[in-house]
Amino acid sequence: MDFLSNKARAIAPYTAGEQLRDRQYIKLNTNENPYPPSPRVARALAAFDADALRLYPRPEADELRAAIARKEGVAPENIFCGNGSDEVLALSFPAFFDGDGAGACFADLTYSFYEVFAAFFGIPKTIVPLKGDFTLDLDAMRAVPCAGYYIANPNAPTGVGVAREEMERFVASVPDRLVVLDEAYMDFFGESCTPLTQKYANVLVVKTFSKSYSLAGIRCGYAVGNRSLIAGLMRMKDCFNSYPVDSVAQAVCTAAVADGAYYAEATGKVVSERERLAVALRGMGFTVPESRSNFLFAGRAKVSGKEIYTRLKAAGVLVRFWDKPVLCDFVRITVGTPAQNDVLLQQLQKILS
Ligand SMILES: *Cc1c(COP(=O)(O)O)cnc(C)c1O
Repeated sequence: MDFLSNKARAIAPYTAGEQLRDRQYIKLNTNENPYPPSPRVARALAAFDADALRLYPRPEADELRAAIARKEGVAPENIFCGNGSDEVLALSFPAFFDGDGAGACFADLTYSFYEVFAAFFGIPKTIVPLKGDFTLDLDAMRAVPCAGYYIANPNAPTGVGVAREEMERFVASVPDRLVVLDEAYMDFFGESCTPLTQKYANVLVVKTFSKSYSLAGIRCGYAVGNRSLIAGLMRMKDCFNSYPVDSVAQAVCTAAVADGAYYAEATGKVVSERERLAVALRGMGFTVPESRSNFLFAGRAKVSGKEIYTRLKAAGVLVRFWDKPVLCDFVRITVGTPAQNDVLLQQLQKILS
């Protein structure tokens, strides 16, 4: 007797990247930022009054929402904050999709959490293959009869991005379907669709503090959308956890959002290293789709992703691999600091020779 529900027994949960502590690794496997958060974050933490922890946090994270709204050029009523963008995405499934409805549509190679959420909430799904060059097949997606879409832009794990203009054409062409745009990596691309949320009622943009803000340890993400979409997410939050964003996270993220200059510089460094790494990997014979994110999706003939992963791990460098069709030929490499990337390239050189 294990007391598990049928659902708990049957569901295939999301597998997160390894967070190993057995030795010091160069950690290029979960798309964290190699640079520290803004100095304002450290100051906000130092100034945080521990006595304030007696009290529950602001349930709707008002100050943080106001700070995010200023940055995104929208009103606080257009912002919803959650415990990581994974939670925001999770809540969006029951908020906007019905189990007996037309369901959600997403790509075959994309953030694998969408499939887990659809299964967990009993939402039907239609999966559309990417094109041969790893770009999204938006025409095929448009042809799917569904209630809405989940699109990671830039996509994970491929890194491939869709420009705002093309995304706007797609959004405008499906006015009665919700388009959820997961922009976890958008700061490394600069084509955010948040302005579309002011113009189209069917767009919800989801962002995170985990990647470009160097705050994966704090667990905070947010959605930008019209008032009715945001109200839907608030209703779902209050069916699950009234206080998803703790007081420390609210203070830290409010400080981070205000330091655009610091983050623009850190993001610029990651982007220029991304370009250097892509050229070097292609020079070693890897196929690397053009990445608009902070990671590279790299595959090479005659050596599996798992083999590259295993050999790099033995050398103290962690990357991500998969035991699945198509993906098994690739590894996903997070862009690190120049020194970390140099070690990666040296080790790859050794493995291939
Ligand atoms: C990392 C990631 C997220 C989630 O991040 P949180 O840490 O939960 O905010 C969401 N979507 C994609 C595509 C990601 O790669």
